[in-house]
Amino acid sequence: MKVSSKKINFVKHVLPVIFCVFFIGLIGRLFYLQVVRHDYYEGKAVDQHTWEITVEPERGSILDVNGEVFAKNKDVQQILMAPAQLKSAEDRATVAAFLSEAFDFEYQDIYDKIVAGEKSMYFSVKRRVEAEDAAKVTEFLKQHESLKEALWVSPDTKRYYPGGNLLSTVIGFVGIDNQGLAGLEYQYEDILTGTPGKITAIRTASGGAMPFAYESYQDAIDGYDLYLTVNKKLQYVLEKHISNARVEHNVQSRIAGVIMNVKTGAVLAMSSKPDFDPNEQFTITDEMTLEKLKELYGEGTKEYYEAYNKTQAEFRKNKVVTELYDPGSTFKIFTAAMALEEDLVSLSETFVCSSQIDMGAITYHCASDKAHGRETFKDAMANSCNVVFVTIADRIGVERFYRYFTLFGFRSKTGVGLPGEVSGIFFDEEKMSKWNLYSSSFGQTFQITPMQLITGVSAIANGGTYMKPYIVDRIVDQDGNIVQQNEPQPVGQIVSASTCETLRDFLEYTVVKGKTGYLKGYRICGKTGTSQKLSSEAGFESGKIIASYVCFAPADDPEIAVLVVVDEPNSTVQYGSYIAAPLGRDIMGDCLEYLNVEPDYEDGGAAASVRVPALEGLSVDEAAAKVDDLGLAVKIVGDGETVSLQLPVEDTVLYSGNTVLIYTDSEDDAIQSAKTTVPDLIGKTAAECNSLLQHAGLNIKVVGDNLNYSTTLAFKQSVKAGTKVDKGTLITVEFQGKTP
Ligand SMILES: [Zn+2]
Repeated sequence: MKVSSKKINFVKHVLPVIFCVFFIGLIGRLFYLQVVRHDYYEGKAVDQHTWEITVEPERGSILDVNGEVFAKNKDVQQILMAPAQLKSAEDRATVAAFLSEAFDFEYQDIYDKIVAGEKSMYFSVKRRVEAEDAAKVTEFLKQHESLKEALWVSPDTKRYYPGGNLLSTVIGFVGIDNQGLAGLEYQYEDILTGTPGKITAIRTASGGAMPFAYESYQDAIDGYDLYLTVNKKLQYVLEKHISNARVEHNVQSRIAGVIMNVKTGAVLAMSSKPDFDPNEQFTITDEMTLEKLKELYGEGTKEYYEAYNKTQAEFRKNKVVTELYDPGSTFKIFTAAMALEEDLVSLSETFVCSSQIDMGAITYHCASDKAHGRETFKDAMANSCNVVFVTIADRIGVERFYRYFTLFGFRSKTGVGLPGEVSGIFFDEEKMSKWNLYSSSFGQTFQITPMQLITGVSAIANGGTYMKPYIVDRIVDQDGNIVQQNEPQPVGQIVSASTCETLRDFLEYTVVKGKTGYLKGYRICGKTGTSQKLSSEAGFESGKIIASYVCFAPADDPEIAVLVVVDEPNSTVQYGSYIAAPLGRDIMGDCLEYLNVEPDYEDGGAAASVRVPALEGLSVDEAAAKVDDLGLAVKIVGDGETVSLQLPVEDTVLYSGNTVLIYTDSEDDAIQSAKTTVPDLIGKTAAECNSLLQHAGLNIKVVGDNLNYSTTLAFKQSVKAGTKVDKGTLITVEFQGKTP
């Protein structure tokens, strides 16, 4: 194009003048703006002439009560690019080719992005890359020094969960931008995320970046750390036991478990198994489930992927707070509390159960149609007798039942501070019939969450005060200052201390009599529950059950409560007492040991243990002297002079007072007469057990506290009645912790 001379003159002479005038004016103006009205114009200037780079704050960690980490940030890298620095089409192509090859991008996509982003200062090509990926970029740049201004790696952070599945249904997980999407990560997003900072930089006239020419830096405020009430050790204990139980009972749905401090309402552990690993939250990590899905749908089919997605979504749910279940007989604790508090039953009153009770329109049955016969209220609790509870419910009445039901928190969310919490489903008071009342008295025809149940039980355990449960202990800033300390919150006294004391006695007796929940060395209170799951067609029983167990200990001054809810066990014996009670007991045992709660009594009482020496081949006199020296009794069988056989064998542990048998006949004859049958000891006194075992040529080890030899009854023997064993074998017999 030809340029006219007129235009040239304008450019040569007129424009500089205009420019100078403008420029001088501009300096003055700038002085005014920057110095005089700095604050007012700063915001506007930023919009018009500068780029802003957001500085991400560091996300707060999630830790246990002692500072053990559940969720933290891991230092990783990100790959950044300044497309404006790629001056030629060739450079663009080189970078696009490298990135597509190294990081599996489509070449054309990345090339288009470079072209489209030419005016921008920089953008992130890939975030949260591990060291080996970052190294690819470094290598590439060594060979392409000229591209260093255009492509580089920069520090980035990634959410990391060092415990994997540990506490995952409570912790939740984050999305690609580190934003909380589930669990505590979601619930406490504002606390954890912090406030972003920014770097403001001037843009050149051409629209390209002019880094470092002008910068203002505003610090990011890092997120706060969340310290939970959860104890990592107890969380391990809980997860270990419920994972094992799931395999043992071939559980088809899931198991939920929770441990609570009954005095404060603090959650010490909480889990739902199977769960997930928040480091890869969309992957099913549970082998048993993967096997099942493969078997059902065939790996790789459309149905397989549909089921896979549905299942993994299920595994991310926190069953303790987001799912409802029928509490079954565990609820009898509350019905009993109402009756005792309102003085509707005396401890000496007796009832008679003939296995069923006719209440007009509906006849109620005891489990397995068992007739419990004559029983006190305490017996009725231990027997889990529906007949007595229906009788008692009639005395309580709808109005009172409803009032206590509400006070124990079953009609509202507990407010423990976890997302997705639901509240129980119960009748409308006006519409609640007496039959609704009867079935409710033994925990059926309504639903609550495991969280609601353990919180209510904790109130009974602590002497009657409903404590609002909580799971966040404190919030701490990055300098270690406590921003918020959560304290135990008593909501109200629901029943009296004396009612609770009576109930503790009932529930300790229930455990002792129920046997399967009994914990050697400790006095614990507990109650099992078994409920039928209804199928989706309303009113039809599905044949699937939920077995649960709630317990608390130590009985005289309870500190912790444990609840386990086993959803669809597939064992041959489907009762709470066989499935959930031993599970709850084992969790409780480990908790008490960890918390250094002293056992109420020592196994074996005062008797000292000794090891049986080698006697075979010795003379009868020599052998007898050795045995006597150890505080053991000796019984000689036969007329020989040398010991041909000894029972028990060398190195067996016995207790002082036990008997060692010495055979002097030929070995074959001795073996013939050395077998004996273990007698049935259950329900017998210690004195009776001792006599029966002696008669059978067996040794006894007595386990139990406050043992009265003539009244305390055996509930467990280490070898089953009827078993053929060697004479001299030690049989351990356990007696109930307290005389009824
Ligand atoms: Zn009964």
